Amino acid sequence: MPELEAIIGLEVHAQMSTKTKMFCGCDNDAFGKPPNTTVCPICMGHPGTLPAPNKEAIIKAIKASLAIKCTVNKDNHFDRKHYFYPDLPAGFQISQYDFPLASKGIINYDVKDASGNVIENRECRITRLHMENDAGKLTHRGATTLCDYNRSGTPLMEIVTEPDLRSADEASAFAQELRRILIAVNASEADMFKGMMRFDASISLREKGTKKLNPRSEIKNLNSFKSLEKALTYEEKRLRTLWEKEGGPIPNDITVGWLDDEEKTKMLRDKETADDYRYFPEPDIPPLEIDDKFIEQIKKDLPPLPGEQKEKYMELGLDEKQANQLIDQATLHSIFDAVYEQTKDTKRASSLVLTQLLGFLNSAEKDVSEGPDSDAVLELISKIDDGTISANSAKEVMQKMVESGKSASAIIESEGMQQISDDSAIEALVDQAIEANPQAIESYKAGKEAALGAIVGWVMKESKGQADPGKVNKILRDRI
Ligand SMILES: [Zn+2]
Repeated sequence: MPELEAIIGLEVHAQMSTKTKMFCGCDNDAFGKPPNTTVCPICMGHPGTLPAPNKEAIIKAIKASLAIKCTVNKDNHFDRKHYFYPDLPAGFQISQYDFPLASKGIINYDVKDASGNVIENRECRITRLHMENDAGKLTHRGATTLCDYNRSGTPLMEIVTEPDLRSADEASAFAQELRRILIAVNASEADMFKGMMRFDASISLREKGTKKLNPRSEIKNLNSFKSLEKALTYEEKRLRTLWEKEGGPIPNDITVGWLDDEEKTKMLRDKETADDYRYFPEPDIPPLEIDDKFIEQIKKDLPPLPGEQKEKYMELGLDEKQANQLIDQATLHSIFDAVYEQTKDTKRASSLVLTQLLGFLNSAEKDVSEGPDSDAVLELISKIDDGTISANSAKEVMQKMVESGKSASAIIESEGMQQISDDSAIEALVDQAIEANPQAIESYKAGKEAALGAIVGWVMKESKGQADPGKVNKILRDRI
């Protein structure tokens, strides 16, 4: 049996984070909205309607293209790709075929071992990036199929790689780096739970050392990194067994689906070829002519990419894991940046954002986007810094902010958590403490410095943590 290697390529679909859809003015954020409420005759595919390309989507797709080092093609155009599906009422998708928006890019990514240490840095060539519109969504219930067109017309980027990946782990590491890049340049939110990023993965085998590409199996519609890894691992093993039995590769290209529950692939059909789609240039949209100046301006405004961001965070003193946590989540890193900007204190910012905020979000099973935003966290910090609350009660306030969605000041107010810094109130508490702890006072006077801690502790307990510990200490020393 010859030594075989897996040859893997990906097609990645990412929804663009635009205000409106690709070819009409409908709201592009349908999340949580009732079915078929963010639609119009254009995205419903009514005959006689005219699509108009979304400039914001084109700009975002150019940003993504530049971030993955593609060449933006100044002359590119839309094509009709014909196929019938109930969630595609026009009977065709508006996509790009022979003249895509961008081509020939490259992405460098780290391959890590099980404990997250980088083993090696690899590169994967990008064939092309093109724009298209998404189809609607079908829900099957028994014998009935429900159709929701809210997603119909959502702007998509399709990013196609060269077959440069050699294992399921590499494919997943590559896809995660691509996701970070798309988030960093704000081209896509790439929220996997909301299906904003989906993969088709092609895999074939060949004898190591040979160059020929054999017929491949394409696994459609994988929507998490876990399914991408599992499906590729499964399919590689299946193709190896077939090779052993047949003495060679599968005879022709095939398309398979991944059954998440059963953890196996299922044959769908022989792979369709471009001829099957009857592509032709979209007659309702003129070719896009993008000039150099426009591309240069977008390039100039490109935000830092994940690699640069990571470097910046590590220079600030975060470790690699913390830096990765931030670059993996756009909202989290904007909160961290705002907190660091205000405090200029890496330790404090990471404790507040990565330990407290993230910890409370995890226990409340909430996503970062559902928690307090950067303004809300900055308000909490100002309440600590102006002495309204102690750092200790701030933790409790943060937890309540995450759980209730209320602001820091509303929580402090309604829970009566203001720190007691009024001297006379603290003096009264200190006097009570001295009276209640005669033994501790004696030990302190006999030279046991630690005994003072017990008295301060008594005051803090009595004041439910609201006395300013610095003041308690000072007043206590003055008194004895
Ligand atoms: Zn519409």
